Amino acid sequence: MCTVNAVAALLSVDEALARVLERARPLSAEAVPLERASGRTLAEDATAVIDLPRFPSSAMDGFALRAADTPGELPVVGRVAAGRPAPRSLEAGEAMGIATGGVVPEGADAVVPIERVTESGDTVTVPDAVARGANIRPLAADVRAGGSVVPAGTLLTPSRIAALAAAGVAEPRCAALPRIAIVTTGTELRPPGEPLGDGEIYESNGVMLAALLERHGLVLERETVADDEASHREALARGLEADVLVTSGGVSVGPHDLVRGILAELGAEEVFWGVAMRPGKPISFATRGRTLVFGLPGNPVSSLVGALLFVVPALRALQGASGPAPRFERGMLGSAARRNPNRDDFQRARLELDGDRAVLLPIEGQESHMIVRAAAADALVHVPRGEGELAAGTEARYLSLGDA
Ligand code: AMP
Ligand code: MG
Repeated sequence: MCTVNAVAALLSVDEALARVLERARPLSAEAVPLERASGRTLAEDATAVIDLPRFPSSAMDGFALRAADTPGELPVVGRVAAGRPAPRSLEAGEAMGIATGGVVPEGADAVVPIERVTESGDTVTVPDAVARGANIRPLAADVRAGGSVVPAGTLLTPSRIAALAAAGVAEPRCAALPRIAIVTTGTELRPPGEPLGDGEIYESNGVMLAALLERHGLVLERETVADDEASHREALARGLEADVLVTSGGVSVGPHDLVRGILAELGAEEVFWGVAMRPGKPISFATRGRTLVFGLPGNPVSSLVGALLFVVPALRALQGASGPAPRFERGMLGSAARRNPNRDDFQRARLELDGDRAVLLPIEGQESHMIVRAAAADALVHVPRGEGELAAGTEARYLSLGDA
């Protein structure tokens, strides 16, 4: 007879993430003006509208001339201002004043910086030989018209937005932002600022999730529901209309844990429930049509870790991001970390630098309800499941909490 091993039944974090990502198919694309493109993901390769530089231009304030005429004393026959065409072409034996970014006149093959010459009246003395091509930015050296500026799947950062602008791309095609609904469950929850009755606590997952997820999508709805079936049904039905529904609480095995049952009633198909991780083991994941549904456990640190490990990567994948998985970095444990025999632990740690080395110091207070302790951490250190402990000095991977 076959017995089910509850531990073996838990999915590994990697397997769970793979199941999420394979169901997070890219949303449609839309044109987005550059002013609003920060943080968006390109849906299609963006190609240059123009050659960049668009004309051979000067890299310095100085004088355009022919290298063969240097060293020498040359008449200054005109000036090229930035944003204006050269007044005429340059003949042998002549120099023309030029500003940084100015169009190098036809016939010139070098620019000598102003600091290297002496000017007197309408002549300029160039004491040293100047190399051909010196201080000239060649045509299209950055990119040719039609060449790739930023490939599809790339997150638009300020430098990439600048590149698109410079290459003449005004409205890059970006993936639509995923529409997100957040439903926090728990009769005990009250908004901060209100008086608390016996047994009540302040709601913190909803604000945390909204703050985290709005960087990766559009949070359209956020509500808190009591632990009764009717309220759950109504809020979850509405949430299922979004691209991503994220719930908190109510996914464990208690009598008030209603989320999974009601989601199933509403037609969501569960992909998994339970991941071999700590905190956050009872996390659930389901789909209904194209909607992805994450059931995060209610303990605040479990919700945070589940959102970072699964929800944010899914939001990236929905935008067609290349490499949507969490980006772990490498560091070294600065003190010993106890391992959990059955579950991968994501311990909250402070990060200190020893030279260039990231040293990770797990904090006191690793329980999953301790959000204040967790808020002092810089990193989530991955302590793989196993016996005993990882000694100080062991290499470890970590996820930065820098902006979480
Ligand atoms: P649950 O997963 O619903 O069993 O909740 C686990 C623990 O997390 C309980 O102590 C809850 O009171 C707490 N909790 C659940 N939801 C929230 C929330 N939105 N904000 C803060 N704590 C919560
Ligand atoms: Mg609850």
